[in-house]
Amino acid sequence: MKIVVQKYGGSSVADKERMLQVMEKVAAAKDRGMDVVVVLSAMGRKPAPYATDSLINLMCEGAGKDICLRDKDLLMSVGETISCVVFSQLLRDNGYDSVAMTGWQAGIITDNNFSEARILCIDPTQVLRYLEEGKIPVVTGFQGMTVNSDVTTLGRGGSDTTATALGVALDAEEVEIYTDVDGVLAADPRTMKNPRQIPELHYMEAGEMSGEGAKVLHKRCIAPVEQYNVPVWVKSFSGTGRGTRISDEIEKQAFERTRVVTSVVDVPDVAHISVDLIDAADRSLTRLELLRSFKEAEVSLDLINIVREKLYFIVREEQVMDVVGICKDFDLPVQIIHGCAKISCVGIGMKGTPGVMAAIQEALAGAGINILHSTDSHITISVLVKQEHLQLAIDALADKFGLRENG
Ligand code: ADP
Ligand code: MG
Repeated sequence: MKIVVQKYGGSSVADKERMLQVMEKVAAAKDRGMDVVVVLSAMGRKPAPYATDSLINLMCEGAGKDICLRDKDLLMSVGETISCVVFSQLLRDNGYDSVAMTGWQAGIITDNNFSEARILCIDPTQVLRYLEEGKIPVVTGFQGMTVNSDVTTLGRGGSDTTATALGVALDAEEVEIYTDVDGVLAADPRTMKNPRQIPELHYMEAGEMSGEGAKVLHKRCIAPVEQYNVPVWVKSFSGTGRGTRISDEIEKQAFERTRVVTSVVDVPDVAHISVDLIDAADRSLTRLELLRSFKEAEVSLDLINIVREKLYFIVREEQVMDVVGICKDFDLPVQIIHGCAKISCVGIGMKGTPGVMAAIQEALAGAGINILHSTDSHITISVLVKQEHLQLAIDALADKFGLRENG
């Protein structure tokens, strides 16, 4: 059995016309002799009636603070069910035997972290049975179920993870993620003009990009395929371009140090926080309790740095008040710089290559941009700049590292 998992995002299945384009891609794979499993997102974006945000509104607009997260997941999961049923019928109407399946019918078991659930395991028996019968299973993205039969969702963009996890569970030849861009680009096309399309990405680079917030791939979708080495393609649902292949093939070239920075990821609307622990009786213990309180309040910290008696980090602007409240409870002074943007530079060739930070500094300083904070891991360097410098910074990095098409 040669299985391919094809995932189509919300814009690809927004209406019947686009569904027909999708149908042709699915049919072409089936006609090539592949066993195709389709994973779909909900149809379109708000205000489309069955888009995830429109469904959330039905429950949450005007509701009190006491939103039941379990029920919210049940509601949010409905959009995918609708698109799968509609698409499955379209396949049958065009002569392809098909069956729509929910996440739980496809055997996807998750933890009970509603709205951000993680897949624990997949029992692919039923999907395989349908494939053996010659059917095309059309599986809802984004959905799972706990061992207690509560419906869960995997977090926004989570259909990508449904596809890659299913790809692993089904021992697929490859996973194809179809979206509204030609593949993974060197930056978000909304912040960089004409970004280069990246033909080959290493799992590690794609994992870092998505983890840092590149919207094109869900943050947890690379881990399963990386572990089991299933190649992933990111392609346009409407175009005929080659797209981007994500695999471990790139490793050999990486050592040629040609890929020092392959992409930049921007996250706007964050605030820089510094907490002063100098007057705390036991700084280590206070810091630990403080960090635990942030975790309990589900405040997500990034660019965390401990420098002597200070704790530095960034949070999304909407979480600043939570941070201030918690620090007040600990009687700790806080300094806040509002209106910042994080830019992460990612590239597998960065590993062991000296001078990358110098090159980033040179690009940004050349554009008159001050770096407020930075952190790095082996293939990523993240810098924080003022939001008003974001565009300029992205342009400077694009020029420095040749991230534009023909540039
Ligand atoms: P889908 O509904 O198909 O899952 P998404 O909106 O989740 O689509 O992801 C595709 C979008 O991701 C693109 O339209 C683009 O604006 C954005 N994006 C952000 N960073 C990148 C990048 N590095 N490469 C390609 N697209 C990106
Ligand atoms: Mg997406």
